[in-house]
Amino acid sequence: MTTLRVSSLDALHACGPSVLGEGTRVGGSADEQPEVGNLVHAALAQHVEGQEFDIHEAAVRAELSDGDEEEALELYQTGERAWAEKREAFVDPATERLAEYALRADDGTDWTLAGTMDVVSPTGANAAVFLDWKTGRLDTGHQHQGYGYAWLIWNVLGRPAECRVTGMFAYLRYRYVRTVVYDVPALEAWEHNLVHNVLPGRATYHPGSQCRWCGLRHDCPAKRQVMQGIVDEMVVSPQTKADPSYQGYLERAAQQAQAISAANPTSPDLGRLVADLLFRMRLMRVLADDTEQLVRGWLGAAGSIVLPGGTALALLPQERRSIIVDKALPILRTRLRPEQIEACSTLSLTKIKKAVVAKVQRGEKGKLAEALVRELEAVGGIEVRPYDRMEEVPADQVPALAAPQTQAPVPDPTTPAADLFG
Ligand code: SF4
Repeated sequence: MTTLRVSSLDALHACGPSVLGEGTRVGGSADEQPEVGNLVHAALAQHVEGQEFDIHEAAVRAELSDGDEEEALELYQTGERAWAEKREAFVDPATERLAEYALRADDGTDWTLAGTMDVVSPTGANAAVFLDWKTGRLDTGHQHQGYGYAWLIWNVLGRPAECRVTGMFAYLRYRYVRTVVYDVPALEAWEHNLVHNVLPGRATYHPGSQCRWCGLRHDCPAKRQVMQGIVDEMVVSPQTKADPSYQGYLERAAQQAQAISAANPTSPDLGRLVADLLFRMRLMRVLADDTEQLVRGWLGAAGSIVLPGGTALALLPQERRSIIVDKALPILRTRLRPEQIEACSTLSLTKIKKAVVAKVQRGEKGKLAEALVRELEAVGGIEVRPYDRMEEVPADQVPALAAPQTQAPVPDPTTPAADLFG
């Protein structure tokens, strides 16, 4: 029996392998800033329960940056206001309630649907309301997530013939709450589709806009095929594509690419393929930058552009705040101890080197900078974090091939079941 998280239902309906394919975490979602989201959820749960919650202290404990802390505070305050407006609809609110229910798909496979509701409350005989805090930047409707929670509540209530579940999705970043009402015919139709179509068809790839957040996007064969098609359309001329020698080259290169391993790292055909791809990749980057500038120009003139599917593209004003050290230090010294200030500070090695050698004669600058680095290294004052930069270098300067890295799979967390309205 496989457990399916309600939060993954929209992704499952969009493309089964993105949730259930090899290498994905069942129930994973694409929250852009999980730390901020987790903090806001925890703070709002305490608020709904009538408990005190010091969001500043929690932000420090979670090591959030100043920007993230401000963002979390703003989202939390929006949530507080939303709760003040919607509180009345919740007779007996309970927070973070897990509900689980088993179901069998049409192909005989067994599943457990599990979801944790941020706030849930009964509202009478066979009626309930739930609320889900949304802290991400995307309003993708969360249509199936809503059905998932409502379906769980309906099942926990014993699948009565009459049932009314109200779902509220509070989009905190955009300050609005979407309310949806679910009844038994709608829940039965949703269940029918899940059991007869979605789960049995879970192995079929459906590339689309969701690929951008999919954990498999770098390895997905369907996505690769689409990308290959786009690159071919944009970069290779129709005459070249029709040329049999070009086709033969592509086939040979694909065979070479399949045989690649640490023991057989290279071949002339593979080299030609990679050089060709490198050229296309650079061209795509230029095309992407140029296209973004073009679209930004249109947005600058139009303000926003409505896209098919109910969203609009807009330039949202943002601010990046940074500390001006000499002005801020006198104030910081009144609030923080020197070691706390040091712990909050980051220094740029490049800027430090520039400052140290600024007043030194030409010819001496390099030596002085090197001596400084050696001195800092000797006391452990420089942290070295290795990373790989892709770069063309003379063939005789290539370092020894590193063994391919593999990552250990992340285990799924398991949560014990709890009474829904308890
Ligand atoms: S990359 Fe796209 S097509 Fe491939 S599994 Fe993910 S969502 Fe599906």
